[in-house]
Amino acid sequence: MANRKYIVGNWKMNGLQQQLSDIAAIAAVAAKHDNVDAGICPPATLIASANAANPGFAIGAQDCHFNENGAHTGNLSAAMIKEAGATYSILGHSERRADHGESDEDVKAKAEAAHAAGLGAIICVGETEEERDAGQAVAVVTGQLSGSFPEGADASWLTIAYEPVWAIGTGRVPEASDVEEMHAAIRNKLGALMGEGSDAVRILYGGSMNGGNASELLAVPNVDGGLVGGASLNAEKFGPIIEAASAF
Ligand code: PEP
Repeated sequence: MANRKYIVGNWKMNGLQQQLSDIAAIAAVAAKHDNVDAGICPPATLIASANAANPGFAIGAQDCHFNENGAHTGNLSAAMIKEAGATYSILGHSERRADHGESDEDVKAKAEAAHAAGLGAIICVGETEEERDAGQAVAVVTGQLSGSFPEGADASWLTIAYEPVWAIGTGRVPEASDVEEMHAAIRNKLGALMGEGSDAVRILYGGSMNGGNASELLAVPNVDGGLVGGASLNAEKFGPIIEAASAF
């Protein structure tokens, strides 16, 4: 089943109020390509103002806690980021898994909390370079997917992002054949986990996607879009990726 391409920018810990003009410029490009679903996940401090300034443009978060409230200093609940104006959240990004010790179980609970609050969830999975070199990439990624998979998952709110850890922020991109193999494995695992409706779950590729390689990556079977870090910070870099997606 053909899915609309979905292009999401992950700003990570970048962006002050001054960079809201970059989100506005990106939203303007997205508005011209309405056959693509595009969005930006800025730092939580910018969600409310980015949402208010860009009606109709999908602003997301980069994380949420799995509890509804409580003694979790420095964390934000799904309801909090929703109230701020986010409509979805990236969850289980490899930087959160590595820097904050997030387990598959945590990511599953976060996705369920996001859904309960009315948010979409983009669950990230991906192997390290050592795991790929050891021939374990598919087993690691499908294992992460099973462990992180939320109850009651449905394509209306769940997206998967395959992000090889060694490709994030490095300028290195896997061979198209490796991306194809992994996305097919993820598609098969989704079929096993959820049965009917699994074909409609979008599987994004993430890791050094840019305006120069987006067309090739987006043409790979089962690549339904991209999760983009460095090349999402302004319209000059992110616009060409949205345009590339629009050609499909
Ligand atoms: C990411 O961190 O989600 C990502 C894909 O980063 P980059 O595009 O910079 O590799």
